[in-house]
Amino acid sequence: MTATLTRDDARDIVTKIGLDFSHVEIIHDITFKQNELVYEVIKKKTSIEENLQGIITQIKSISGRAIVYCATQKDCYEIADLLRIKLEDIDGKVGVYHRGVPTGEKKCTVEKWKKQHIKVMVAINDFGLGINIPDVRLVVYYTMSQNLSNYIQETGKAGRNGSTAKYILLYARRDVRILYNIVAGKRESSLNDVVMENEEIRQVYLRECQKKIWEMIFFCETKFECRQSALTHYQNWKENNIPPSEPSCERCDACQLRAKETLITRDMKMSALRLLKVVEALKEFESDAITAKDVVDVFCKSKNTKLKYKELEIYQEERDTVKLTIDEANRLFNDLVIRGMVLTDIILR
Ligand SMILES: [Zn+2]
Repeated sequence: MTATLTRDDARDIVTKIGLDFSHVEIIHDITFKQNELVYEVIKKKTSIEENLQGIITQIKSISGRAIVYCATQKDCYEIADLLRIKLEDIDGKVGVYHRGVPTGEKKCTVEKWKKQHIKVMVAINDFGLGINIPDVRLVVYYTMSQNLSNYIQETGKAGRNGSTAKYILLYARRDVRILYNIVAGKRESSLNDVVMENEEIRQVYLRECQKKIWEMIFFCETKFECRQSALTHYQNWKENNIPPSEPSCERCDACQLRAKETLITRDMKMSALRLLKVVEALKEFESDAITAKDVVDVFCKSKNTKLKYKELEIYQEERDTVKLTIDEANRLFNDLVIRGMVLTDIILR
């Protein structure tokens, strides 16, 4: 039994235990949306202090407890230290939890957390799996999760029993490299030895991880699609006739933004085709060192385009009649990646 599971996850589990997925019947129900969950993705600023300013106000205002998820142990300590100062924590109500914490200390932290002696837990992203914490009202992702399945699992931990919980994700493209280095085993990683030792398995695993990180980027850079609907949609098991995506939550940042702006529908076919042409042209010019940023810069004729690309014929061509901003072009690019029309390596240079 599990609270959250996607079809891909289920297939992984069933295959690992040696069964044929087509012969397995899975009984499920999407329950994570029963609570009043509020999702928000915020553009990450440069310094920890700037990023935590708003978060600290929120921690002070909630009646329950908070978890701040980080990608690295270094971030955990820096954030915890700052929180202790700003929250004037003299009673040790800010805890740190990750796999590097010595066993005795870790046990003690878990006990204090269970007894509600810790108000804010700063942890590496996989903390708390399988623990039901109904009084957690705020979950902050200082770095986004490695994939949407983890994110859904983690967000399912807070605000249970129909209570309200807020999830704030601080998003920056620069974090993608940190995440990729973690999944590729270059930093604190949970990669097991079997995956690491077999190059072929490792490559398949990394390719899968990259795909999942792109899904996470796509989710974070989405502007107007309801976060909750997007997550429900991600979990949607079409073969089992689960109804299509839920109506908008009207609470998340995307729903709030949509309510403020007048949306127009645009046919993006020509723009998508031109973007694919740019990818093609850059690939012909340079076989492997192209980044998503290069593509979008050439596409938008951005002033930041690398000098060598400005010489290209495609750069000289007229832009579309519908001019896209860098932001919009990024979202279009992400969309093409998610649809499998552009294959990309996540190693950002
Ligand atoms: Zn929404």
